[in-house]
Amino acid sequence: MIKEFCEELPKVELHAHINGSVSENTIEKLLSRKQKSDHQYSFKKGSTATLNECFEKFRLIHQLTDDTDSVYQVTYDVIHEFHEDNVKYLELRSTPREVPKTGMTRELYVEAVLRAISKCEAENLDIVVKLLLSIDRRNGISVGHETVKLAQKFQASDGERVVGVDLSGDPNVGDGRDFIPVLKEARDSGLRLSLHLCEVPALQETMDLLCLPPDRIGHGTCLHPEARGRQEFVDTVINHKTPLELCLTSNLIGQTVPDLDNHQFRFWYEKQHPCIICTDDKGVFSTSLSEEYQLAASTFDLQPSDLWRLSLSSIDSAFCDEQSKEKLREKWKLCKPQIEKRFNLKLESSGYQTQKSI
Ligand code: 5GP
Repeated sequence: MIKEFCEELPKVELHAHINGSVSENTIEKLLSRKQKSDHQYSFKKGSTATLNECFEKFRLIHQLTDDTDSVYQVTYDVIHEFHEDNVKYLELRSTPREVPKTGMTRELYVEAVLRAISKCEAENLDIVVKLLLSIDRRNGISVGHETVKLAQKFQASDGERVVGVDLSGDPNVGDGRDFIPVLKEARDSGLRLSLHLCEVPALQETMDLLCLPPDRIGHGTCLHPEARGRQEFVDTVINHKTPLELCLTSNLIGQTVPDLDNHQFRFWYEKQHPCIICTDDKGVFSTSLSEEYQLAASTFDLQPSDLWRLSLSSIDSAFCDEQSKEKLREKWKLCKPQIEKRFNLKLESSGYQTQKSI
């Protein structure tokens, strides 16, 4: 029953990398478009890999999404797949990439993603989609700067959709502090910041990045002392009430947590800190948001009411305006009686505090 409940639950996805979310189905389409047949792209359920091997997967996928048509196709399919999984609000993030041999520039890349989002809007899918542009820490500060300029440009011309900037890429490469001026520049122009922080122990950069402060944190795997973090990191996150985007399967497969019992979800959830369950890379990690909710339920003994409150309170942390959040809450309210009836239960809305809207 919990499986069906998680599938029917209206959900919010706030941490999904476009190229990591590509399904096997879409990979097949891309392979046939490019007249290749290569199965090294598949990622079987339950398999594990080191973080480095996961980054190798992204590199292989990028070889398939090296032109604007593929980027459009991938974005379009990913939105439809989240829609089919009952995701009502989706924030995608992606690294604008240039590929000289196909003529794709970073700007054309973003345009292709936005075109796919517009197409889905024109199809009246019951899903709101926003975009964050990712700064890959491996690409250095000048590309980071260019990415922020692009985000600002599209924010001005397409303000509804481009809502923020993400800092991601291999956490073992470079120093996140180098990007602070670039991130401040983004924030000063009204873009929201979601930063991959402390996926691996990173004592040097963490405090400075936390003090920006970001609007949300991706993973935060090693923030707390039990995971080789520091109490002052925890205090800072709590003081700023910075929501955490938590991705169970991704962290398990990427081996940044030893097992799910020791996943940081438990630490933050017990503190009633805003936690958002996310997929990260549903393609590469062969999962879905419904499966992530199910996994959270079985690992942390969560009941349907807890899952309901988690999905509803995730709206508070979205990077959209307050009016859009109200519309989403209304949607949850409308479907609640149907879900209660179908599963013969009463969903309690209180208990887990909903947080300030960011
Ligand atoms: P894209 O930005 O090309 O749409 O999605 C793939 C990219 O997202 C990867 O190359 C990587 O930079 C970033 N990414 C995906 N998953 C993770 C993750 O778990 N941690 C970090 N730090 N970056 C990730």
